Amino acid sequence: MKLSMVVPCYNEAGNVRAFVQAVGGELSPAAVGYTHEIIFINDGSKDDTLSELRRLVDEQADNITVIDFTRNFGKEAALYAGLQKAEGDLVAFVDADLQQPISVVREMADFLVENEDYDAVAAYQDQRQEGKFLSLLKKTFYQFINAASDVPFHANASDFRVIRRPVAQAILSVPEYHRFSKGIFSWVGFRTYYRPYKVAQRNAGTTSWSTTKLFRYALDGIISFSTKPLKLATGCGFVLSAAAILYMIVVIIQKLVCGNEVPGYPTLVVLILLIGGIQLIVLGIIGEYLARIHIEAKHRPIYLARAYYSNIEHENYDGKKS
Ligand code: UDP
Ligand code: MG
Repeated sequence: MKLSMVVPCYNEAGNVRAFVQAVGGELSPAAVGYTHEIIFINDGSKDDTLSELRRLVDEQADNITVIDFTRNFGKEAALYAGLQKAEGDLVAFVDADLQQPISVVREMADFLVENEDYDAVAAYQDQRQEGKFLSLLKKTFYQFINAASDVPFHANASDFRVIRRPVAQAILSVPEYHRFSKGIFSWVGFRTYYRPYKVAQRNAGTTSWSTTKLFRYALDGIISFSTKPLKLATGCGFVLSAAAILYMIVVIIQKLVCGNEVPGYPTLVVLILLIGGIQLIVLGIIGEYLARIHIEAKHRPIYLARAYYSNIEHENYDGKKS
């Protein structure tokens, strides 16, 4: 039995060595009964992450493979690349910054070893360590996406999870460019056990997620896994048309019964602005979907790698040596 750890790295020079040491301490094959490998993906880091990773490979620090991207393709692309390279019967997705404790990875892997009935274990944060406002935004996001999407989303469960080989193959068979892992995990199905964990402080460096980036990511998730916003547009159109017809009837009656000219100038301006605004929003929503179709239709690869470095002989799951 082998556990593959897929670790995306963006500017993590200060963390990768500590990560390897933490894995060495927690997952010694003698203690856990299975072997492990670590697959680092250098996602276009601007610091010394790559040289630090290459040093670790040269030192034979552990069973390490490094995939070096040609530029920053994003965490989702990194997870996909790592999964393609992973050989293990179990695959874990872990952040490089040690916020997700290796002891929890071990517990999740042990759980799957002991419980044949489950195919995946996902860890969720039972207490969020961030500000109230961000927590509220994230809560609202989960409520919205659960209402809008056909697949369920477990609140606060991220991509920190351990999966079995068949789940890994299933995820690899979803080739879309705009990847939203939480949705893909949910979409492929399988029996998943959810367990709480407490997120640790970042070991070194800073988070690379700004609020704008988080917003884009949330929007990606909603658009990838729901077509409800488009239906909302149709609904809006119907409601507005009905209101317009009602108002027209009122105006005609006023004219016939009271005979007065309708002093409608301000009403007119408000209506034009309102309807114009709604039309633009709806066009924007359609545009978001269209933009994604545009990108998907090009069938560009999810990532491009400059080089691979490894201190183990690789045998991809389809049996090819590399
Ligand atoms: N990451 C990545 N590419 C990116 C941004 C982040 O591979 O474009 C990695 C990063 O190195 C880390 C993980 O994704 O291992 C989570 O990122 P971060 O710690 O910045 O996010 P947070 O924990 O604050 O959500
Ligand atoms: Mg982090």
